[in-house]
Amino acid sequence: MDTQNRTIYENSTARDVGGFVGEETGVSPYAGSPILNIITEKQLKTCVHCGLCLSYCPTYKATGLEADSPRGRVFQIRLLASGELQPDDPDLNKHLSLCLGCRACETACPSGVPYGALLEAARAQLPPKNSQERVLRKATLGFLFMHPTAMQAAGLGLRIYQKSGLRKLVQLSHILKVLPGDLASKEAMLPDAQGGIVKPNLPRVTPPKPANARRPAAPVNREN
Ligand code: SF4
Ligand code: SF4
Repeated sequence: MDTQNRTIYENSTARDVGGFVGEETGVSPYAGSPILNIITEKQLKTCVHCGLCLSYCPTYKATGLEADSPRGRVFQIRLLASGELQPDDPDLNKHLSLCLGCRACETACPSGVPYGALLEAARAQLPPKNSQERVLRKATLGFLFMHPTAMQAAGLGLRIYQKSGLRKLVQLSHILKVLPGDLASKEAMLPDAQGGIVKPNLPRVTPPKPANARRPAAPVNREN
């Protein structure tokens, strides 16, 4: 990032008062951005920089940096969409990666900024950090999630691993700690498989309960 960009980037509130390049000419600075394939320009511009979300953000509390706050990240995402920041910018990657995605800022925001959607749209533009992440992205986003049969096979593998006792053996042996790639912490994040090894046969349609099974409405207080 050049010196000028770094200055506006670290002083986002002041920068936004003056608007973005192109806004004063009526030409959208975001036209053609791949981010607009995922979110709308209106969503991108909803933040009014009031700062009411700041005290809800754990990363802002930890670092005290505007660039690690929801407001600062929204601003960086707008710079990314306008082309003023490049997807491989190391600072941009650092600050977006540090976001926990907890969306505490989203529920606190009075303007309804769809922070989660903005973050996902922006992260989709960032290049993989290393070859391991590149392979993982291709295997999951490029293959697994695109093929239902592969998903079913992966689900079966997960159920066999967890329900057969193999998982307990692996964890007790500590073998994952000696393998490369921090596999132990990744394994700990595996979702818990439901049911047994054999996938339960769920009905295609589950009919609603009869209307008379609904809870009665609370009585109205007529004294008010
Ligand atoms: S994200 Fe919402 S609460 Fe935070 S600065 Fe923007 S408008 Fe204000
Ligand atoms: S999602 Fe969580 S960590 Fe990320 S900016 Fe919002 S409050 Fe902060």
